[in-house]
Amino acid sequence: MDFGFRISPSSAINLDNVDLTLFERLHEMEPDVYKCMACGSCSATCPASVYSGMSIRKVILCLQRGREKEAFRMMKNCMLCGKCTMVCPRGINTRHLILSISKLYSETK
Ligand code: SF4
Ligand code: SF4
Repeated sequence: MDFGFRISPSSAINLDNVDLTLFERLHEMEPDVYKCMACGSCSATCPASVYSGMSIRKVILCLQRGREKEAFRMMKNCMLCGKCTMVCPRGINTRHLILSISKLYSETK
């Protein structure tokens, strides 16, 4: 029977089956990445966020969930202005973190 709508596919992630090698490498380069509490202050202040959806908070979450492609797609919109670093309440050098993620990305290409 057609109800005129469909149920969205599940977005559940089975973390037991996710390859987190890249995130672990990032953690070695940037130990502070574990300090992120996903507060969203960085995204709120990011000038690229409104127009492109860039969010370092989401980038970190994607990498923690093995969604590298999604993370790298967002990263392309970062202008490295450093505003996110100025507002992070956990003192994470997000600008440096972004540079490290870019380095990992160029290694995986
Ligand atoms: S501001 Fe800092 S702690 Fe908050 S989401 Fe961004 S990186 Fe994480
Ligand atoms: S450095 Fe990148 S992510 Fe951070 S505020 Fe600037 S454009 Fe946004």
